Amino acid sequence: MSSAPKNSPAAAVTPESLLRQDILSLHAYHVQPSPGMIKLDAMENPYPLPQALREKIAQVAANAEINRYPDAAASGLKERIKAVSGLPAEMDVLLGNGSDEIIQLLAMAVAKPGAVLLSVEPSFVMYKMIAAFTGMNYVGVPLTEDFSLDLPAMLDAIKRHQPALIFLAYPNNPTGNLFDAAAIAEIIAAAPGLVVVDEAYYAFASDSFMPQLGRYPNLLVMRTFSKLGMAGLRLGFLAGGKNWLAQLEKLRLPYNVGVLTQAVAELLLQHHEVLLQQAEQIKQDRIWLHERLVGTVDVRTYPSEANFILFQLPRAGKVFAGLKQRGVLIKNLDGGHPALTDCLRVTVGTAEQNEQFIRALQESIHQYSQEK
Ligand code: PMP
Repeated sequence: MSSAPKNSPAAAVTPESLLRQDILSLHAYHVQPSPGMIKLDAMENPYPLPQALREKIAQVAANAEINRYPDAAASGLKERIKAVSGLPAEMDVLLGNGSDEIIQLLAMAVAKPGAVLLSVEPSFVMYKMIAAFTGMNYVGVPLTEDFSLDLPAMLDAIKRHQPALIFLAYPNNPTGNLFDAAAIAEIIAAAPGLVVVDEAYYAFASDSFMPQLGRYPNLLVMRTFSKLGMAGLRLGFLAGGKNWLAQLEKLRLPYNVGVLTQAVAELLLQHHEVLLQQAEQIKQDRIWLHERLVGTVDVRTYPSEANFILFQLPRAGKVFAGLKQRGVLIKNLDGGHPALTDCLRVTVGTAEQNEQFIRALQESIHQYSQEK
């Protein structure tokens, strides 16, 4: 094969010359390599499925017509999702290849020139990244010192920036807390655009905005099945009024949810109780883990309604590295945002993994307190 002639236009094309400047200056979302590690960095459900259910999956996978495109409407799966999610009547769902994809789809839909995507900080970093991908202006309103919503600041920012889209993670990632529901209600009422309550961690939380759908014309609720035990399948959904979803459907790529994901997720949702039971166990173990962290010298913990706990301690970066050396991978948030200085985030694992984590944490803290 011949290459491009030296003086041809093709010869001068480079990523730097061609790509948008804002894309060139982005940092890619970093996923840490983790082979052989105790993996407590990504809010996954640590439990395997019962053997009988795994065999059913094998059957469903064997019979799936992977030579065919998936059911573009995914009607069977959508019905299942509606049945298990407590969707108010008249509400519909739109499916995404993970809820990440839905964030992107929403941003694309509203990204008129100058349109603003507003969220809080610190929160899920993809809101800001996707605002950049889609050419939206991003506004991040700081949370208060204890990571609560700063309602006056939010209302002021809404007035000033007139955001087309607001994302509120409920519970919030990476802080783990549920914001005040009455404050969210005020934000929804004051918003001149859509407010998406992102309930990625709904399975571990004591409250939800799902029942509120229909009470506000501009409220949508987004969820994912990733944290419930299906992170590898990639499936999220957006719930809301048919008027919104019918428009947003136009932007959804027709086959975004694959044959295997549809078939396996539908099966697993028929056995929803298995996943809910695992979530219940994770909630129980969160109490144990929280108590242990509270009892660890120099550690400040934050309350969590999710399947992870945020905590702060001196020399967090070093302790994180010490954990890694001991085979435990968690998330280092130090340096990501000023409010997260010296903060680490640990996902609740199995009882055994949690114990291993606490042991490794205590050893690492001890090691670095000696070093000074
Ligand atoms: N929203 C929040 C608040 C999250 O923390 C995450 C995952 N970290 C997501 C959405 C995206 O999840 P997924 O794409 O796996 O559905």
